Amino acid sequence: MIRENLNDVKENIVSACRASNRQPQDVTLIAVSKTKPVELLREAYDAGVRDFGENKVQEILEKAPALPDDIRWHMIGHLQKNKVRQVIDKTVLIHSVDTVALAEQIEKEAAKKNIDVDILLEVNIGEEESKYGFRAGEVLEAVTIISKFSHVHIKGLMTIAPFVENSEENRDIFLKLYQLNVDIKSKNIDNVNMAVLSMGMTGDYMTAIEEGATMIRVGTGIFGARTKMGENLV
Ligand SMILES: *Cc1c(COP(=O)(O)O)cnc(C)c1O
Repeated sequence: MIRENLNDVKENIVSACRASNRQPQDVTLIAVSKTKPVELLREAYDAGVRDFGENKVQEILEKAPALPDDIRWHMIGHLQKNKVRQVIDKTVLIHSVDTVALAEQIEKEAAKKNIDVDILLEVNIGEEESKYGFRAGEVLEAVTIISKFSHVHIKGLMTIAPFVENSEENRDIFLKLYQLNVDIKSKNIDNVNMAVLSMGMTGDYMTAIEEGATMIRVGTGIFGARTKMGENLV
């Protein structure tokens, strides 16, 4: 089932790229495996997936040792400062940096381990009360402060768009994140490289690609639905 789902997602990526004059190799598919057991991740791995996204530190710590070590783990969920130390050397990219204080904590722990940590700033473009992330108007100031850190490197922006029935409703959000990214890129700030735009999930990734996403985060569309308890609905 996972292999077929993956093929469908890949075909959709190709058509969204065709519709927007982009190249499929410029879009990285992250398989969001939160709540799913290691056996299903293994199935996705065997079908060629190397980029996995998790939203809890604990799940990365449990799953990574049980799977091949060429997997690239992406931290996509809200990260608490007291968990930074455990996760920064396990992930290839932290998508969900939502405060300057969190970036400072990452800098502090990365310095101790003498490692470099790539991050994205999470932006709450829709300004939803319930969501983490910087407001669009706060991002440039945060980038300017974090750019001075020596172990933390900003690679771009991430957003979690609202859940909608029709993905067209999110097009404006994706366009706004794209434009914010271009604005910041144009400032040519040292130690800041705005190459990554992480946006689009199962319901809206084709629209996100059309608006410039370079990473899409797809869970349900690959692994099937999640329940609140975390077991699988097959
Ligand atoms: C769960 C999650 C996803 C994937 O959601 P689906 O709708 O299942 O594709 C993407 N991004 C984040 C941050 C998530 O927490």
